[in-house]
Amino acid sequence: KKTLRLILGDQLNANHSWFEEADSNVTYLIMEIMQEAEYTNHHIQKVVAFFLAMRNFGEFLKEKGHEVIYFHLDDDENTQTLKENVLMLVEQHDFVRFEYQLPDEYRLDQILLELTEKLESDLGVSVKLVDSEHFLTERGFLKDFFKGKKTYLMETFYRAMRAKYNVLMDGKEPLTGKWNYDHENRNKLKDPLLLVQPKTFPKAVKEMVKMIHSKGATTIGEIDENAFDWPVSREESLEVLRYFCEKLLFRFGEYQDAMYDGDSFLFHSRLSFALNVKMISPLEVVEYVEKYWYGHQDTIDIAQVEGFIRQILGWREYMRGVYWAEMPDFASLNFFEHQEKLPAYFWTGKTKMNCLKHAIEGSLKSAYAHHIQRLMVTGNFMLLAGIDPDEVDQWYLGIYIDAIEWVEITNTRGMSQFADGGIVGTKPYVSSANYIDKMSNYCESCFYKKNLKVGDRACPFNSLYWHFYARNEEKLSKNPRIGMAYRTLAKMKDADAILKQAEFYLGQIDKL
Ligand code: FAD
Ligand code: SF4
Repeated sequence: KKTLRLILGDQLNANHSWFEEADSNVTYLIMEIMQEAEYTNHHIQKVVAFFLAMRNFGEFLKEKGHEVIYFHLDDDENTQTLKENVLMLVEQHDFVRFEYQLPDEYRLDQILLELTEKLESDLGVSVKLVDSEHFLTERGFLKDFFKGKKTYLMETFYRAMRAKYNVLMDGKEPLTGKWNYDHENRNKLKDPLLLVQPKTFPKAVKEMVKMIHSKGATTIGEIDENAFDWPVSREESLEVLRYFCEKLLFRFGEYQDAMYDGDSFLFHSRLSFALNVKMISPLEVVEYVEKYWYGHQDTIDIAQVEGFIRQILGWREYMRGVYWAEMPDFASLNFFEHQEKLPAYFWTGKTKMNCLKHAIEGSLKSAYAHHIQRLMVTGNFMLLAGIDPDEVDQWYLGIYIDAIEWVEITNTRGMSQFADGGIVGTKPYVSSANYIDKMSNYCESCFYKKNLKVGDRACPFNSLYWHFYARNEEKLSKNPRIGMAYRTLAKMKDADAILKQAEFYLGQIDKL
């Protein structure tokens, strides 16, 4: 009657119904394996965060009286693959049942289907699949919701979610009569004194870093081995949420799109890792924030709260739906047929473009960049420079602490690179220096001049922006949201010189 239940590294959901009661016939399996440490070149902080969170979860289960088998990366009997470890344990312990939670990645889905086949047909072990009890929608919900429609409009989905979960609602209507406050949330940060230190949990991780490297895992990025500071337990995740509500929420929306060279986090929550490994659930975050706001309406306005809730109830859930509606084909879409390699400075930050330098250096330093840095600095540049979406995906999947394919690839290939030809977004997110300057203080101290389109010091974004439109005219000019750009381009007197400048930059993209 013995059952083995698998817990993947991103399934650390303490409130899962599996854990309600301890049962001596049920053993939980958590494993650190090279297969996961190596499927892309991860940031060292990402690997450390996963392993620490998994270890804490294993301890939590043991304290609750559950049987747990925990494989450390350097355990001798660890075969380093999911399949082999499970098969070995089934044989050693005579498990007759194997149960697992629905994984969030296509890659793991496939591995587990193969394993199921082997367990059921070769070994007579019965296999059961259960929900991960984390998301607010089922895998196939979005596809059904938009059945017969050409595109999946996030806003439509988001409004349905607000109504379904009764969040910021007054009966069937949005609480304040307005669904979306995006237009009010576009300020530049002018006063750095407003900035608040992030909530951190410094821990020594020297031994773990040594262990990861001694097993031969190659990683990118930096780590402070004496003060690793991301939340890696449920308690810490809840503390980050509380801290966010108390110190940051009242300015979240206002500065959501702002970028500032002295600070990577600004008023963002830093909750993505905690959410993505399920230490905390989207519904509890949304409900906590909504409730906090009800008690603090005199100091926090609705635009801040709506802006935040939309990210989780809307975007996060929506991206998951897109992933399962479109995979596996999504992973090879390349609408613009981009082929270029990513310049070396994406791994060093050594570029004269100040905006990119800060976004990349910050990412290497903290395994984090906020949404607008990812979308309008690094992503924008990669799209303008014609980088192969495979290269783009691998960079994002490796460098960010929160990068798990379902939420990385939909943002990268979809929202940022428009490689899906318009499944996620209605037009490509590209901009010249104008937008970056409007939202940041990067341009002020840049080698390049934000107002120049041609010449030695011309900001590369300015000419690459027009080159992008010119080279993709056939693909984009019919898009009603883009027509204006083509009308402007047609009227530009210096268009030839600008396009020439762009070609010059594209020819030496590694040296910018
Ligand atoms: P906050 O700004 O405080 O937002 C709160 C939460 O909302 C986040 O924790 C996240 O769970 C959710 N959220 C916000 N925007 C999005 C979005 N576009 N899609 C899904 N969820 C969202 N997010 C990831 O979790 N993993 C990724 O690998 C990832 N890759 C990205 C790649 C690109 C090119 C872009 C443009 C965005 C990516 N995002 C990704 C979305 C977003 O940038 C991060 O979720 C966010 O920066 C995390 O920081 P935070 O927790 O402080 O977010
Ligand atoms: Fe970036 Fe151009 Fe501004 Fe420099 S001038 S920071 S390259 S947008």
